Amino acid sequence: MRLAAPVTRCDRGGNAIHPAAAYREDPRSARTPLRQNGAMSSEADLDLEGAASFADLALRPELVEVLAALGYEEPTPIQREAIPPLIEGRDLIGQAATGTGKTAAFALPLLHRLPEGDRGRHPSALVLAPTRELAVQVSEAVTRYGAGLGARVLAVYGGQPITPQLKALQKGVDVVVGTPGRVLDHLNRGSLKLDQLTTVVLDEADEMFDMGFAEELEAILSAVPTERQTVLFSATMPPKIARMARKHQQDPVRIQIEREVAPAGEAPRVSQTAHLVMRADKPAALARVLDMQAPTEAIVF
Ligand code: AMP
Repeated sequence: MRLAAPVTRCDRGGNAIHPAAAYREDPRSARTPLRQNGAMSSEADLDLEGAASFADLALRPELVEVLAALGYEEPTPIQREAIPPLIEGRDLIGQAATGTGKTAAFALPLLHRLPEGDRGRHPSALVLAPTRELAVQVSEAVTRYGAGLGARVLAVYGGQPITPQLKALQKGVDVVVGTPGRVLDHLNRGSLKLDQLTTVVLDEADEMFDMGFAEELEAILSAVPTERQTVLFSATMPPKIARMARKHQQDPVRIQIEREVAPAGEAPRVSQTAHLVMRADKPAALARVLDMQAPTEAIVF
């Protein structure tokens, strides 16, 4: 079933307002504290003050045009921090929650780095995501951002017939977005070849660990070329993720975007979303929203 388009846009976690809207509605959020941690932070290299627009970030014009058409007026803090080092090919650890614009923060650079001209059959970038929903959502975002470059994007996840995925891989793709189990399945079948890969992204790495994908991740990361860029995004940074980062990344830039803290005496802002659906579709729509948002707790009334 398809839901009607939300009246207001919502993020996956349902816990943060749309970044652009946040800028317009509350100038405080434009100053969300930014922190680059660790000895390798490249703050000195980045002209953060000057990077007020996507064009300032030196993205390919095809990407800047698409972003303008999508109405993205300025980069969010994570985009401003992450895009320059990612374009340079640096490894990166980003600690940022959903709703900060992190998808574009990794998607735009990997599209920017796609080879010019004939890109061949095998993917240049692989994005790993914990769930089918996130894989689909990320692949749709990458498809949108990469439209001007003619990027071929494929989502691969379990619970879906494998034949269409095999056919699409056979035809040729630039970016594969998938859940670790299905990606490993394709690797084992030989239908996914990673020898042209220049970037691998782990989105919501903590969730992937929590869902028991540690072995699959290890197997996939061991199968990708050693000379690749490894990008890791995680809302939290437990020791097992830090260990994996040490093993598979080289000299990563570290970026942490703090969640906005409500000033003393003020309630935290809450994003509100309305879906217009037929009365008969209400239970199914609610089930779908709960499935997508996956809240730890919810009140339904
Ligand atoms: P994410 O945190 O990646 O899930 O993104 C949250 C939402 O913000 C998505 O709906 C994006 O389309 C939107 N978004 C991301 N970056 C920008 C931007 N620079 N300007 C406006 N909207 C954005």
